[in-house]
Amino acid sequence: MHESVLDAIGATPLIRLRRVTEGLAPRVYVKAEWQNAGGSVKDRAALAMVRAAERSGALGPGGVIVEGTSGNTGIGLALVGGVLGYRTIIVVPDTTAAEKVAALRAYGAEVVLTPGGLTREDPRHVTNLAARIADGTPGGWLADQYGNPANPQAHRDTTAPEIWEQTGGAVTCFVAAIGTGGTLSGTGAALKERGPVRVVGVDPLTSAYGGGDGSPYYVEAIGHYRHPDTVDDPWPANWDRAVADEVVRVDDRTTMATARRLAREEGLLLGGSSATAVAGALRVAADLGPDDVVVVVAPDSGRAYLSKYHDDGWLRRLGFLEEPGSVGELDVAD
Ligand code: PMP
Repeated sequence: MHESVLDAIGATPLIRLRRVTEGLAPRVYVKAEWQNAGGSVKDRAALAMVRAAERSGALGPGGVIVEGTSGNTGIGLALVGGVLGYRTIIVVPDTTAAEKVAALRAYGAEVVLTPGGLTREDPRHVTNLAARIADGTPGGWLADQYGNPANPQAHRDTTAPEIWEQTGGAVTCFVAAIGTGGTLSGTGAALKERGPVRVVGVDPLTSAYGGGDGSPYYVEAIGHYRHPDTVDDPWPANWDRAVADEVVRVDDRTTMATARRLAREEGLLLGGSSATAVAGALRVAADLGPDDVVVVVAPDSGRAYLSKYHDDGWLRRLGFLEEPGSVGELDVAD
């Protein structure tokens, strides 16, 4: 029994994969982060960032939470802000799916739309506009998930000890996709302090984090797309490259195929970043033995992406249902 919805953030189960792991020696478990109160792993960071800001005095009565994000961090902040009585302003690119904007508003956030596809230097870029709004709003506090140390700290304090205890210290490999890097760096660092755990980041093939050229990819919420005209492209402070032993790169086609298999064979309807991470974990698991225990983070549910990764029409239109090399139905207009 929870006395507050905030207590329903964290303490998510580990669920073993059974069919997609056939032929692999290690046990592979997903950390079911979609079961957090707001529906994603980012609830942990949102709560921790708000609590840290309260402790430091940066956020207090009458304060206003501000962040630039198109995704789950905004939901987490809106949820926490609503419960704790803070106004919450979320800046999102106007390319964001209507359902996501509606969800933010439903949680009581004020949504400010800004054009998508801007360079990092553009003053209207979500990050820059959110900073200006925080500066110009009395009581304004910018959450800054890419630089705020409370984001990885949330995972040091909660995600890592949960995984260690749930596996009885048997975990030997930790796998997560990289957005801000908070999940991977925070959990990975704290697990390594407890035992010899291999830490593996997973990145979309063309994302700049894993060595790609930063060109666009279809999986949302992870990796780093680099606008071709962007000059200054700072590495997020929360993505500590020293923690990861390696970064595995996964192409969109593999992500989409994995998302489908997870839903159909494991009964796990998950988002694209989960599918990317699981695909990376399966690749790593192929080189591991029967005593290994792999834990891979599944950040959110597939419900938010039913019209994308889990929709045959969408997959077919983009060629993801065809065999590699096939041009089959790509030209069919609809
Ligand atoms: N998956 C999803 C669905 C997310 O929303 C995020 C956060 N952008 C991530 C993965 C990456 O998490 P982190 O920011 O901790 O690296």
